[in-house]
Amino acid sequence: MKKISTKLNLAMLLVTFSVLAFVGAVLIFNIVLGYYRDFENAMTLVFQSERFYNICRDFDGDIEPVINYLDASESVLCQSSEKNYYILKDGNIIKSSHTGGILKMTDNLKQVLQGGYSSDRDITSDALDFAFNIGRGYTVYVADTRRELFSQIRDIAILFAQALMIGFALAAALGFIISKRLTASIKKLEKGALDMSHGNFSKIEIKSRDEIGSLCKVFNEMGEQIQNDFDEFEKAEAAQREFVANVSHELKTPLTVIKSYSQTLRKVETDAQTRNRFLTTIDNETDRMTQIVSQLLYLSKLEQQPVVNESLSLFELCSQIAGSLRIESDKKGLFVYITGDCIVYSDRELIKTIIYNLLSNAIKYSHPGGDINITVKDKPYAAVCVKDNGCGISPEDMEHIFERFYRVDKARGRNTGGTGLGLAIAKQSAAMINATLTVKSKQGEFSEFTLKFNDGGNNTADG
Ligand code: ADP
Repeated sequence: MKKISTKLNLAMLLVTFSVLAFVGAVLIFNIVLGYYRDFENAMTLVFQSERFYNICRDFDGDIEPVINYLDASESVLCQSSEKNYYILKDGNIIKSSHTGGILKMTDNLKQVLQGGYSSDRDITSDALDFAFNIGRGYTVYVADTRRELFSQIRDIAILFAQALMIGFALAAALGFIISKRLTASIKKLEKGALDMSHGNFSKIEIKSRDEIGSLCKVFNEMGEQIQNDFDEFEKAEAAQREFVANVSHELKTPLTVIKSYSQTLRKVETDAQTRNRFLTTIDNETDRMTQIVSQLLYLSKLEQQPVVNESLSLFELCSQIAGSLRIESDKKGLFVYITGDCIVYSDRELIKTIIYNLLSNAIKYSHPGGDINITVKDKPYAAVCVKDNGCGISPEDMEHIFERFYRVDKARGRNTGGTGLGLAIAKQSAAMINATLTVKSKQGEFSEFTLKFNDGGNNTADG
């Protein structure tokens, strides 16, 4: 029995049968109980009355008063032809409420004839009866063949059998309709799950708001999530492919230069000056390759690097960095001004990396004799702005400058020793200390990079 619809139909039939059988059984039980209770009441009414007690007390062998009393009680004792009373003398019927028929010797009757008492009603005995010994060999006996009860039970059983048939038919029809609707949703769900397993994450359309509807919702959300993860994965893979291509390209250029220059040096006779020039170029390209490789290694290790927070003055840090880049700034006749201070609780090395990259870029892309302003802010949040009045960045380039290997002017980048990795490193370092790195610029006028500490750099005190 594999199909849910079959199971459902069977369950409906079983429920219908159980309900009807239960109701029928309770009804029949109550009817039987009521019937017995009526008999009991009638016996109590007739044989436990004061009058009957007096008759029995005064009984001297004259049966007439007993007969009269029973005749007077006939309406209670003999409600139908199946209920009768008898008066027996030494076991022989001397008077009965009807004529003809054979009196069955029931347990009660036997017991009373033998001088005992009429016992409790027994449902298995031949008749529902009551016997009473009034003395002097006389016995009053009331018997009900229960045919009336049996015919009532039979009528009810027939009624219930009919109801059962109709109930079965209705249950089958209803079960069919319900299971059809239910299995339609389940089938849709099954198909959706199957599609999902084949990589098709299209939505499962089910309108029902029941558990199956909820399950579909969960499936749809799961599908969406998997699709998103899949897209992300594809994007990450594409980015990785692009990254490998970029690295290869970036390394290929210096390698080609080194290869061709060294070949030329080996094959062609050159004077000392030319050889020197060639060797300088080889040296520069080797430095460049080393720089690219070490920056890439730094980037790859950055995320695993633990963040070590300490209290530090941003002014002091900027001054240190400006000092270490003094030769470069002096070479271009640039003035570096540092104003403001703020004490932050953050990672010294990561902030150093960021500001170092920003300042070295400002120096690289400033016109000779320009000014570079480093402003440390403490309100409303801790921040460091590095502003130069150099070549600036176009709006189109601004969108990409934080990408790895992105250089506005590839050729100029090579001349200035740029690798296109500095800002990517700065951005990732900023994320590690929960800071953001943003840029404002106007081409030909200025560039301003701002490192903003989002949680205030756990700002401990104003400088
Ligand atoms: P690079 O090593 O080439 O400087 P970066 O990632 O540091 O690489 O910068 C990416 C690009 O952003 C640079 O090639 C440059 O064109 C541009 N850029 C960065 N800083 C500035 C600046 N201060 N002024 C103008 N352009 C800048």
